[in-house]
Amino acid sequence: MTDTERTHDHTHTERADACAPAASARSVAEQLAIVLGSVDPLSPVRVGLDEARGLVLAEDVLTVTDTPPFDNSAMDGYAVIRADLLEASAQNPITLPVVADLAAGTDQNPRLVPGQVARIMTGAPIPDGADAVVPIEDTDQGTEQVTILQSPKPAAHVRRAGEDAHAGDRVLRAGSVLWPTRVAAAASAGTSSVLVHPAPRVAVISTGSELVTPGSPTRRGQIPDSNSFLLSAAVAEAGGIPVRIGAVPDDDDVLRAVLTELAGQVDVIVLSGGVSVGAYDVVKAVLKPLGTVDFGPVKMQPGKPQGFGRWPATNSVPGPLIFALPGNPVSAYVSFEVFVRPALRRLLGHETLQRRTVTATAVDGWRSPPGRAQYMPVILTHRTADAESTDGSTNASTNNFEARPASRGGSGSHLVAGLAQANGLAIVLEDTTHIRGGDLITVMLTS
Ligand code: AMP
Ligand code: MG
Repeated sequence: MTDTERTHDHTHTERADACAPAASARSVAEQLAIVLGSVDPLSPVRVGLDEARGLVLAEDVLTVTDTPPFDNSAMDGYAVIRADLLEASAQNPITLPVVADLAAGTDQNPRLVPGQVARIMTGAPIPDGADAVVPIEDTDQGTEQVTILQSPKPAAHVRRAGEDAHAGDRVLRAGSVLWPTRVAAAASAGTSSVLVHPAPRVAVISTGSELVTPGSPTRRGQIPDSNSFLLSAAVAEAGGIPVRIGAVPDDDDVLRAVLTELAGQVDVIVLSGGVSVGAYDVVKAVLKPLGTVDFGPVKMQPGKPQGFGRWPATNSVPGPLIFALPGNPVSAYVSFEVFVRPALRRLLGHETLQRRTVTATAVDGWRSPPGRAQYMPVILTHRTADAESTDGSTNASTNNFEARPASRGGSGSHLVAGLAQANGLAIVLEDTTHIRGGDLITVMLTS
């Protein structure tokens, strides 16, 4: 903490951060390193397969049995002994007695002797003696006896035991994300529960005495609280469990009471608003004296003031992580994307923490502040097939995307309607001061 900040804390004097020497500000990379340096995956828990979707495995999953567990039919048809039918064809139909009728799920195993067949449905076990299946379409579909119009190839339409996996094989690796097909793979492997990193519970609190619940009447000076919805939805999309607290007024005692109550119930607390140097910046006023939350300026736009740390430990159990984000909706959103989302993914045990980026061509230009990384909400579109490259440069062919700022007002951090149109954030490096139409830019894909 600089002397300037100390002097101005809890006072009505403005903009201490704005005057702080640039050297004291961290780069985005430095701030992110601090955040990720204090976050580990949550301790694994065992959950049933119904609860496993989207979570990250903390163990390898091995098959209990061969998959499939027995030879079975891949078609509705007849289990046959191939040698009986070498001469069979449409011109030379062969008729044989049907000695059994095998439905999926049956445990019957009638041993076929030469000259016999069994009717068999998809998934039913191949009876001993049979070595091929003739699909129903190549027969007269008889039930007492059947006329067969085709000579099957060796092992035709037989799914072999263990063809998919052998007992003891690893079907899923620790670290895998359990998307639907992987939940299914665990089920096929004979597993009813899996060891996973649990989803973090994330409390979301808006601060500001101007905020009212959306839909309720506003008098002059009031606005709907949108951040708690923005951040709760973003938490859920990132795989966390949001606990939306809503808006708390700019009152130190009220906020302190809310935080104290939440501390034992959640893994993370995300606050918005009240982190700069205004007269009523309640989050900073309550958290800074704890000494466990740092409020350093970060060289980014929007999102310059960032609070990060932990609620103090109780009985040496660490308190929840705390992210104190700026209140402007665009700033809050950008801060979530840049710092909170990677941290939530780390808690969830994901190996990949960052969003995908693509290279796009800027359609219109804009300005970017010197010495700060800029995150510009953009609308990213696929370049239309017939779009011409006007200058014949090779740039145009190196990517298929074009991007334009989502709000006409540029990066103004209160422009929520424009933000809602954005499907990406253009990342402009610290030293770049202008983006010109035609420039190649990096865009983080946010949806
Ligand atoms: P603050 O960071 O508290 O100074 O807030 C900065 C700006 O963001 C102010 O114009 C606030 O009214 C606005 N703001 C803060 N929190 C919210 C919120 N939850 N929903 C909508 N706007 C907000
Ligand atoms: Mg405020």
